[in-house]
Amino acid sequence: MSYKVIKFGGSNLRNIKDFSRCAETVKGYDTPCVIVLSAFFQVTDHLKKAALQASETGDFPSIFIEEFSAACREQVDENVEGDLFIEQARGEVQQLLNKLALLFRGIHAIGELPPTIYDTILSYGERISAVIFDSVLRSRKLDSVLCLPEDFGLITDGEFGSASILLKESSKNIRGHFKGNRYFVVPGFYGVSDEGKITLLGRGGTDYSAAALANLLDAGSLDVWKDVDGFQTGDPKIVNNPDTIGYLSYSEAAELSYFGARILHPRTVEPLQPKDIPVRIFNIANPAEEPGTIIGPDPKDEFTGPKSITFSRNFSVLKLKGPGIGIKPGVLAGVAGIMDSAGVNISSVFTSQTAICFLLQRSDLKKARKAIKVHAPALISDVETISDIALVALVGEGITKKQGVAAKAFQAVAEENINVEIIAAGASTAAVYFVVKESDCDRAVNATHRYFFSPPEEKDSFRHSDLTSVVL
Ligand code: ASP
Ligand code: MG
Repeated sequence: MSYKVIKFGGSNLRNIKDFSRCAETVKGYDTPCVIVLSAFFQVTDHLKKAALQASETGDFPSIFIEEFSAACREQVDENVEGDLFIEQARGEVQQLLNKLALLFRGIHAIGELPPTIYDTILSYGERISAVIFDSVLRSRKLDSVLCLPEDFGLITDGEFGSASILLKESSKNIRGHFKGNRYFVVPGFYGVSDEGKITLLGRGGTDYSAAALANLLDAGSLDVWKDVDGFQTGDPKIVNNPDTIGYLSYSEAAELSYFGARILHPRTVEPLQPKDIPVRIFNIANPAEEPGTIIGPDPKDEFTGPKSITFSRNFSVLKLKGPGIGIKPGVLAGVAGIMDSAGVNISSVFTSQTAICFLLQRSDLKKARKAIKVHAPALISDVETISDIALVALVGEGITKKQGVAAKAFQAVAEENINVEIIAAGASTAAVYFVVKESDCDRAVNATHRYFFSPPEEKDSFRHSDLTSVVL
């Protein structure tokens, strides 16, 4: 019998009755079934804030602990059935809250927040969700068992904050822990280093936990439940009437997630692709329906146009200037080495005769600038940072091999009087992207989406607009 792995995220755990709604969804699955849970909506943010405040001010976050305890009690009372089960669940949750309070006291006592404590504290959102959900299922007579990553050995490379899961190391004990036709409830978002330290998998990492488990158990599919139908041709907050995309290849889904679509963690497809395990995205508001989006092996179809336009405001540019810097051998390698030592991941590089531009995560910009200022090669005469940018990406397998797609996108934005600052393609055959001023982001996404996805009549009226200036 093949395993199904299902994942419920923060968007499914928002309202007081949501654990019950998820339990009803689970009833529709045959066992063996592994359920991977995120923290309740926004709980991770609150845990983060409380931990940082405790270390910065030295105060114990008693108000947070009180409010969190009350919210957990309410979840239990509303969703667990029967006095006995409620009593038991309250006790289990209280034990976790006591441990969490101890961790905060530790920060309070030593006045700092080591990464190991930070990661452990943030894992409590998922731990508490899993304990409550296991009780909800058992109280409804489902044969459920709680399985913790530290017990079954979800082994990571040990990098705090954004660890990678080591599949080979994790495969050793897994089958022994997921035995029998049961519902297995697992907290997502963290694994353990080989020394047994809790390590987070990066924000939104529960998708990645679930995907790793699907790989390790050779699951038939990974079903991700959301409050939307799936991936769309554009962000509905910005574009008009986007369509849901029925099928995406693994690389298309990875590129869309990397460039800002907030549907899946960008690493979700990594463990699935080698085993061709599909991801199926369902909307919890329409549980009887087919998945909105299926993600699987690369489609054989010819490229007919981008499948989606996405954007991200999470990037920044670090510009290093100096005469001949772009063509002098070794400068790029030297600078990349400096960034690496500072723990900065380079997303992209563009060089010219007199400048090298690095595209970086915005959260890394300060760190990168500081490292370059301290260790910069002599050739660099000036360092500039540009933060007010947004990156707009067009995604579709084969996009870089088809002539004219990028040109059409630039024409669409040029007709809106938007200047394109940087253009890049070729790193993946599934994505082309360009950088615009942050203030132009919405208009650029809209213009591009309209160009590629509007019905012909609307497109025509757009194409014949009064705007004539071309800025490229
Ligand atoms: N709760 C974690 C976060 O907010 C992990 C997740 O939701 O997947 O990032
Ligand atoms: Mg999430």
